[in-house]
Amino acid sequence: MTSFRFSLQAQLALFIGAFLAIVLGLAVLSTQSLRSVDAKTDALASKWIEGTRLLGELSDRISEFRIAETYRALADSDEDRIAAEQRAATNRLVIEQLQRDYFALFGAEPRPDLAKLRDALAAYLAAHDAWMKREPDLASIQAARSVSALHAAYKAADDAADAAIDELKWSAGAEAETAGRITRGAIDITLLAASLGIALAIWLLFRVKERITRPLAAITEALAQLAAGNRHVEVPEIERDDEIGAMAKSFDVFRANAQALERAHEATRAAQEHAQILARQDLLTGLPNRRMMVADLHAAIERVEDGATACALLSVDLDRFKPINDLEGHRIGDAVLCEVARRLRLASRKNDIVARLGGDEFAILIEMTPATHLDQAMRVAGRALAAIAEPIEIGDRRIELSASVGVSLCPENGLDVGTLLRAADIAMYHAKRDGRGRFRFFEQSMDEELRRRAALESALKKAVAAGDIRPFYQPLVDLRDSRIYGFEVLSRWTHDKLGSIPPDVFIPLAEQIGVIADLTWSVVRRACRESLHWGAQVRLSVNVSPMQLKDPLLASRLLATLEEEKFPPSRLDVEITESALIDDVDIARATLAALQAEGVRISLDDFGAGYSSLYHLRAFHFDKVKIDRSFVLAMQHDEESGRIVDAILSLLKHLGVTTVAEGVETEEVLRRLAENGCEIGQGFYFGKAMTIGDASKLLRRRRVDRRVA
Ligand code: C2E
Ligand code: CA
Ligand code: CA
Repeated sequence: MTSFRFSLQAQLALFIGAFLAIVLGLAVLSTQSLRSVDAKTDALASKWIEGTRLLGELSDRISEFRIAETYRALADSDEDRIAAEQRAATNRLVIEQLQRDYFALFGAEPRPDLAKLRDALAAYLAAHDAWMKREPDLASIQAARSVSALHAAYKAADDAADAAIDELKWSAGAEAETAGRITRGAIDITLLAASLGIALAIWLLFRVKERITRPLAAITEALAQLAAGNRHVEVPEIERDDEIGAMAKSFDVFRANAQALERAHEATRAAQEHAQILARQDLLTGLPNRRMMVADLHAAIERVEDGATACALLSVDLDRFKPINDLEGHRIGDAVLCEVARRLRLASRKNDIVARLGGDEFAILIEMTPATHLDQAMRVAGRALAAIAEPIEIGDRRIELSASVGVSLCPENGLDVGTLLRAADIAMYHAKRDGRGRFRFFEQSMDEELRRRAALESALKKAVAAGDIRPFYQPLVDLRDSRIYGFEVLSRWTHDKLGSIPPDVFIPLAEQIGVIADLTWSVVRRACRESLHWGAQVRLSVNVSPMQLKDPLLASRLLATLEEEKFPPSRLDVEITESALIDDVDIARATLAALQAEGVRISLDDFGAGYSSLYHLRAFHFDKVKIDRSFVLAMQHDEESGRIVDAILSLLKHLGVTTVAEGVETEEVLRRLAENGCEIGQGFYFGKAMTIGDASKLLRRRRVDRRVA
């Protein structure tokens, strides 16, 4: 279709204008034709009809006049003759009047019939006058010659009148013919113009359909498709320059916006979906997460309550996974977790739910008919343990793992999520305690422990808040001159009812329930305050939990505490274990450097135990290294341990680090350590952890002893 450079409005105006012009022209033409027909008709009515009437009457009068003449010629008496003469005179007057009227109507036209009529009439009247002048005697009136002359004049006049009437008839016919022709012409023109108008109207309709209706319908259809979700629908008529084109372009913009909107909507939906998956799934292994497991367990418990089913919850915890993660790196650790997840899935049945609860903790939920769930749980637990015990190979690494599994049963062990999870956990701890790599079912006797632990947790929270955990002091002795180097601060907690609780129990618990920082600050602050008066020569050694070393604010908080207590940083040693250095090396390095810059000395605690690495000795500048007490204790009856300690001492001496041996209980051990260059000793041989009063007494006694010596 050709594209006009005109707007639709202009095109429509043009078409309608042309149409109106045709109609108007037609009307003007018709009016003109009618007018001329009307003029002709008027002429026929006013002139020709009147003319004919006049001529007819003239002809009648001429005959009357002739009859009057005849009466005069035949009159018997003067009386009759005079009456005939009067009658002739009257007719003569009428004839003359008619003649004038007629010539007034047609006299201007140069017509031969008129001239002939006028002449014939004049001749007749002249002959009449001449005849009238004769003596009124019958003989002269009837003189044959004059009578025949008069009759001839009458005949000529009458014939001329008839001829004029004929002429008039013919002229009227000609006029009517002209009017008819004009009328026919007008009808022809009207017909032609009307056909032209109709053709134009049809063409206009066709154009409107082609240019407006059809494109609008196409655009409407496209719009409907867009509304129905077809975002890639072609927009018709977009190339046009007129209003339809503008509309199509707007529609295209709308479509683009709709697409953009839909994409945005799609992205939002995907993000929501992703968020929902995140909320339900463990990202690393793809297993359901704790949240999801709790929801599933909840639903399973409801079914158990309905009486149709029973279920078992297996708590699966990897043994010694942390060292793998720490030493092999998180990438290997993650791969191990994924492999464990895969194997647990394989070890369980299709309908069992395997979830990762966090870290190296997994769970399996088994739903069964009541009689069989115990057997099933046992079978799945056995298969899970066997699956995990198979060595895992990642690249060239071969990793050997084991797991401990605790099982709780529903309805036997409880009918709520919290109880079942805790029961499975308790059973799992028992399995671990029994030597790892095995499973245990929850037993009611474990409940006691469960309650004890809960009671201990709440007691510990209260004790930390109340400052009931106090610093005790264990002496550190310089082996070269037997002087007291300082004291290690060891926390002690004696509970009213529970009695004395060892730090091996409450320190890990405080870490688990998140009160370790409060505990440390309270104990460190109190130790600084109590031991301030011992003087600059006696150092204080405090333990900082690995968890706290992840806190970037640790150094500034510790230094602030020292400042508040006016305790010189140069009197303080901080003991950390190697496990503290593994998680976030950068934060640990910065913290230790900040403390050392203020004069605080850093000791590496428990060296040789756990996962000692020579790397740390090189990467961090420790002021002291404490050889783990297990080696020193073993030296008493195990020569190999003795040789290990000798070797460690030799190594550390070469690195230029101060060495401390803890767990010195006997003089022999002390002597051997001293002979091998160990600089500081700590152990029951010198004294257990004691109160501030006893520590102060010990210091005083030592000083007195030295003076005496
Ligand atoms: P540690 O830092 O290795 O502390 C030394 C532990 O060895 C102490 O046990 C101490 O009593 C014991 N010990 C010292 N000499 C001998 C000996 O000759 N023979 C034997 N058999 N043992 C000896 P304790 O006080 O039970 O502390 C256990 C652990 O609890 C500590 O080990 C330390 O890791 C942690 N701990 C204690 N107090 C605190 C504290 O305030 N904060 C932190 N973060 N940890 C603490
Ligand atoms: Ca220590
Ligand atoms: Ca230690």
